[in-house]
Amino acid sequence: MLYSEFNLIWDYFDRQKKNRRDVNIGIGDDCAVVVIPDKQQLAISTDTFVSGIHFLPNISPDDIAYKTLASSLSDLAAMGADPVWISLAITLPFIDFNWIENFSNIFFKQLNYYGMQLIGGDTTRGPMSITYTVYGYIPIGMELSRSGAQNGDFIYITGTLGDSAAGLAILKNELKVENTFYKKYLINRYLRPKARILEGKILRNIASSAIDISDGLVSDIKHILNASCCGACIDINNLPQSEALKQNTTFEQNRLWSLSGGDDYELCFTISKVNKDLLETTLKRFSVDFTCIGTIKSQSNGIRYYYNNEEVDITFNGFEHFIINKN
Ligand code: ADP
Ligand code: MG
Repeated sequence: MLYSEFNLIWDYFDRQKKNRRDVNIGIGDDCAVVVIPDKQQLAISTDTFVSGIHFLPNISPDDIAYKTLASSLSDLAAMGADPVWISLAITLPFIDFNWIENFSNIFFKQLNYYGMQLIGGDTTRGPMSITYTVYGYIPIGMELSRSGAQNGDFIYITGTLGDSAAGLAILKNELKVENTFYKKYLINRYLRPKARILEGKILRNIASSAIDISDGLVSDIKHILNASCCGACIDINNLPQSEALKQNTTFEQNRLWSLSGGDDYELCFTISKVNKDLLETTLKRFSVDFTCIGTIKSQSNGIRYYYNNEEVDITFNGFEHFIINKN
């Protein structure tokens, strides 16, 4: 028997046993048919990952499944959405059963963890690429956007920044880390990031704006500043960094990665003075790590950096060197 695209879908992708009640028709018909509950709206986001561009060509299917899903779900997290459905368009150069089985095992493990259902997709032959469309619920009017930051708001970051860039550098043999615990930690931060879904949901009621950090703090925070028509002051001393990063890199290197390294998938968000205490007690209650790194200034344009209480000029020299020039 010829093993067809349909066999592949049945064997590897139509395998979720427990279906969500809001899915009337899932995989197998011409379209999926879903029901949106009262008082909820849908957040929808699509991402494509191409082998050799968005992930290293030699990484395992498990890692590809972890990383690509976390990266897509991070967009839902940044809007305060609760993930519900996903569709998957996958293009494969040939059928490698071992690869597909490993990919789909981790893919469904993650979907079950987030309570999501795969509702459809497309399967084609060609250079490897993966496209997801993810769907999440947000109570009507409760979405977090990039445009709500206001003068005097505090700027916060979840977790730590720069780890993923260090993990990638280790994999590319550009950074040597002797300590195996730190080495594994940094590589895992690159290969197996987590989407900050819970944090996004907590922030719905509290934050004035939010974005996920996929391209690096400096480039992503600029989206908030542009959308909210304001500037920001950032305190370099307060950038949250892991011990693993600090212990294994120079000051210049770790500050550069914390400011401009991609793929951390932490959330950057703003909070009004009024909500600051509520934010801190709520995040602590849920054991979320968070750091205040600066403030929003409506009078200024762009980002002003401070180091040891003095304003400094930061030059990103081809994104390879990081220089602090005292004014
Ligand atoms: P059509 O030709 O009508 O577009 P397809 O043959 O592409 O249908 O797909 C048949 C069914 O399988 C559809 O329900 C589609 O959503 C689903 N499907 C195809 N590829 C995938 C995939 N990789 N993951 C999940 N569902 C898929
Ligand atoms: Mg199709």
